[in-house]
Amino acid sequence: MPYSSPSQSPSNTEICLSVVVPLFNESLMIKPLIERLTKVLSTLDERSEIVFVDDGSSDDSWRLVSELPLVDNEYQCIKLSRNFGKEAAMSAGIEHARGLVVIMLDADLQDPPELIPEMLNQWRAGYDIVNMKRKKRLGETWFKRFSAACFYRLMNWVSDSPVPENVGDFRLMSRQVIDSIKQLPERNRFMKGLFSWPGFSQKTLEFDRDPRFVGETKWNYGKLFGLAMDGITSFSFKPLRLATWCGVITALAAFAYGGWIIANTLIFGGSVAGYPSLMVVQLALAGIQLLALGLIGEYLGRVFVEVKQRPLYLIEEVAYKQSLTQVKAR
Ligand code: UDP
Ligand code: MG
Repeated sequence: MPYSSPSQSPSNTEICLSVVVPLFNESLMIKPLIERLTKVLSTLDERSEIVFVDDGSSDDSWRLVSELPLVDNEYQCIKLSRNFGKEAAMSAGIEHARGLVVIMLDADLQDPPELIPEMLNQWRAGYDIVNMKRKKRLGETWFKRFSAACFYRLMNWVSDSPVPENVGDFRLMSRQVIDSIKQLPERNRFMKGLFSWPGFSQKTLEFDRDPRFVGETKWNYGKLFGLAMDGITSFSFKPLRLATWCGVITALAAFAYGGWIIANTLIFGGSVAGYPSLMVVQLALAGIQLLALGLIGEYLGRVFVEVKQRPLYLIEEVAYKQSLTQVKAR
């Protein structure tokens, strides 16, 4: 029987590597991905598994992964009940991964599976996290590269736990790191931040990121902006402090200007200033106030999400699949 419940799966300690792959409408990618990934995994001495998380795909991604032929690999296929987003899908993968080491991999082959053995070598050398830094971001527009650069600058300026620049979700993490991340209960899951939060010994390797193999990116600028806001607000309240400072400086400037107007009128008998300056001050202050209010709203909205304590994702189905050769081997 190729399928069984996860409770019947082998004990944790036996699997060395779990490769977690989130899937959202990637039916065209599954065949080439499995070909390349299994080729790499078959060269390893250690036992490995692939954890597919179908993030509510509307195409036949689920059918394709759950009907995989029996090859020399183990699979866990997790079907979420709807599209919860990549961050939730990765969290589901981490929760189910049983390996001593977990590697996050995008389904679109932008992260070359051929680098896995080198990542494992670094883990064997004693590193807990192996970050994969993009040397070149092939197939991305200059605007995406520019906005990504701005985001990392801003994020690392405001955040207390810095996020390494140009390191995506493609990375290796040891069991110790994974167990620490699993303890983080927050609903706003900016995974790049959560991955860096535990610390531990880190190694960064560089690679050229290929363009997407087929299909379109699932992220538009609106979604990316939302992710950036999640990242900044869940790892720092510096923006709120900045708003406070803005208020203090404007108030001080207003007092000074007020004093000057009183002195000017009393000493020199100066006449009342005209409307243009009044309007400018009025509009500038209203703008700053709305901005600060919006900022508070961003944090409040996230507190609202946190207090509701809803589950991060819902699982519709889990399929565990093991090759016959591996069953016989035990
Ligand atoms: N993905 C997902 N849920 C989503 C969006 C994306 O699981 O709501 C998966 C997608 O299938 C892929 C990975 O996340 O495996 C990266 O997505 P994409 O290539 O669209 O992002 P980009 O590389 O442009 O950042
Ligand atoms: Mg991609």
